[in-house]
Amino acid sequence: CKERTAPQNMKEALHPQAEVRKVIAVVSGKGGVGKSLVTSMMAVAMRRKGYETAVLDADITGPSIPKTFGIHGRAMGSEEGIIPAKTRTGIQMMSVNLLLGDETDPVIWRGPIIANTVKQFWSEVIWNNVDYMFVDMPPGTGDVPLTVFQSLPVAGILVVASPQELVSMIVEKAVKMAEMMNVPVLGLVENMSYFECPDCHKRHAIFGESHMDEIAARYGIANVAKLPIDPELAKLCDEGRIEEYSGSWLEDMAGMVQGL
Ligand code: ADP
Repeated sequence: CKERTAPQNMKEALHPQAEVRKVIAVVSGKGGVGKSLVTSMMAVAMRRKGYETAVLDADITGPSIPKTFGIHGRAMGSEEGIIPAKTRTGIQMMSVNLLLGDETDPVIWRGPIIANTVKQFWSEVIWNNVDYMFVDMPPGTGDVPLTVFQSLPVAGILVVASPQELVSMIVEKAVKMAEMMNVPVLGLVENMSYFECPDCHKRHAIFGESHMDEIAARYGIANVAKLPIDPELAKLCDEGRIEEYSGSWLEDMAGMVQGL
């Protein structure tokens, strides 16, 4: 079916002064499962490995990423284009929150305007020599995710879900959408997979036992990662200090995209 795959000539052109080598989209079936958090931590993990990384926040109506990095300023415009914001460790970032007069203003735009904004984040921002760009996608399989897949040269996707979603069809829909767009699924991330007791180090599956391996096997997804519920992580997010987090799972996450 012709509708299903985007011909190459529909891709948006990158800004002439920009350079982006690999674009990885982070998707989820629904909101609130930690998609933005995973997007941010991917950029942090790869930055620590010495790569130039960037975050394109395409979750336009629920942008939360700049705050978790402690960025409250505005993106700078120049005659030539938009200069992305930079985090403390040098991650480049573009989000609608960096354009709003007041970051608590709601974004009440219709689908086509949202989709166009995402395209502009690609074509009008002067991304500087980026090795890995992580795109925080809007949840679900609607209009905007479709536009992103059609307009940006997405090299692969990461699917984020909680243990509860991994027993429903939501995740499978996201995986099938990627297949229809001819984009490989690089990995499946089960967020809030368990809580490790700080005293006895026993792991508790708060939201039920994991079905991640089963789903990964069904769709031939080679890489899987399990993220714990970590109050320290939530605290650092709230305080805008996400770049200071350390957790052993970050290495698994980096492995999903490194060498892509
Ligand atoms: P989404 O992008 O899927 O809507 P977010 O990444 O914004 O979800 O996460 C929702 C909230 O849950 C955030 O406040 C985040 O700090 C918190 N959170 C997500 N994952 C974890 C985790 N593994 N441990 C602790 N808090 C988490």
